[in-house]
Amino acid sequence: MHDACGVVGISFNETGNNVAKSIYYALYALQHRGQEAAGISVHDGKAIRTHRGMGLVSEVFDDAQIALLRGQVGIGHVRYPTSGRSCIENSQPLLVKFKDGAIAIAHNGNLVNSCQLRENLELAGDIFYSTSDTEVIAHLFVKELLRYDLQEAVRALMRKIVGSYSLVFLWGDTVLAVRDPLGIKPLCIGEIDSGIMVASESAAIDTLNGRLIRDVMPGELVVIRHGEMKSYQLSRLPHPAHCIFEYIYFARPDSIMDGRLIYEVRVNIGANLAKEHPANADTVTPIPDSGITLAVGYHQYSGISYRECLMKNRYIGRTFIMPDQSMRETAVRLKMNTIRPNIEGHKLVLVDDSIVRGTTSRRIVDMVRKAGAEKVHVRIGSPPIMAPCYLGIDMASREELIAAFKTVAGVEAVINADSLGYVSHKGLVDAVGIPKENLCMGCLTGLYPVEIPGEKCMAAQTKLSEYIVKATEDIT
Ligand code: SF4
Repeated sequence: MHDACGVVGISFNETGNNVAKSIYYALYALQHRGQEAAGISVHDGKAIRTHRGMGLVSEVFDDAQIALLRGQVGIGHVRYPTSGRSCIENSQPLLVKFKDGAIAIAHNGNLVNSCQLRENLELAGDIFYSTSDTEVIAHLFVKELLRYDLQEAVRALMRKIVGSYSLVFLWGDTVLAVRDPLGIKPLCIGEIDSGIMVASESAAIDTLNGRLIRDVMPGELVVIRHGEMKSYQLSRLPHPAHCIFEYIYFARPDSIMDGRLIYEVRVNIGANLAKEHPANADTVTPIPDSGITLAVGYHQYSGISYRECLMKNRYIGRTFIMPDQSMRETAVRLKMNTIRPNIEGHKLVLVDDSIVRGTTSRRIVDMVRKAGAEKVHVRIGSPPIMAPCYLGIDMASREELIAAFKTVAGVEAVINADSLGYVSHKGLVDAVGIPKENLCMGCLTGLYPVEIPGEKCMAAQTKLSEYIVKATEDIT
């Protein structure tokens, strides 16, 4: 599974600050949210300058490029593609020029009606140079800005686009941040030395030695200029629909979302997993890295010793060349290797965050059996993934999802485990500490917070546009 993207926006209130460098470090902190491409746009007092490229933040930028991006205000983006091909045209920030100037835009999320919107725009004569839904948002937004003032333009945009979107715009010397009315993807605001920033996760604010102020509210527009912030609430839905997988897997354990430290949430999930699915074992061990905190929770609740049994190679990059068939095992061991003395003769509880296709779990179970494990009990920190994600996570199609077609016993047999236990929906929701009506659990239940052709929708949220309201100003 891959997250779609990470976004950052920073506005300093004093001259002499180099915003590009701060954005660069913040993007580094968000690198886990996207490794395909990275980019930064800054306003240098006269115009927007952008540099973007394919690869990791460290591959796209060097000192010379950062030095060319001079300014006090800017935005940044790391990308993993869920809509649109993997190519430089689809990397962000995306810059659009129009009669009244230029706007750079960075987007985390996925629109479910972008094909229809794009077709309408193309029929009206609009020309696109990328295949991403972000360009659709940019065209629609510019059209509304030419007709209305800023708040009305964002409100009109929100009525048209459906899906998940945490957006940051650079409009002249102003950063705009917009979160979709359901707050599906995260976005938060922080105070940094002589400035204000927004970012997908609070870990980016920590990296700049800043202070988390709060989350951007679902349906909120935040306007930041010269380090000062204004906020406008543009929609009031009865329930948000935060992506539950941010809590299970995507977000960094050191990030805080909705007042909850992700690390603590994951420890709680692991504890509930132990409560619901105890095992006759002597060792709890994680599948690194995402199983680590869940395994800590399992160990704390069950009292079973925690020991690392698998080592992940963190230096395998995108350019890793898969060897031919005869070298497949070498490739697997290169990515993940066993600590044999910790495994041999032991009864293991192997903890992971999710099972998507089942192939990785099977490989790892076989690996620890080969290293001498007496028993392998697999425990999973999410309920079975039954349905695809249309809202910004690159997961798999329904046909590829093992739990869409097999019972728990069937999955247990495929992955060759002695027992398999998933945390229940209740165990997960209790651990997160947010009422289930306020969470998106579409991939776990098949019930989505927005209308998607051929899928079931949570009834109360089918008429999103009715909840777009006249802006209420709230200066924080
Ligand atoms: S469908 Fe699943 S992965 Fe996608 S936004 Fe909803 S909870 Fe997150």
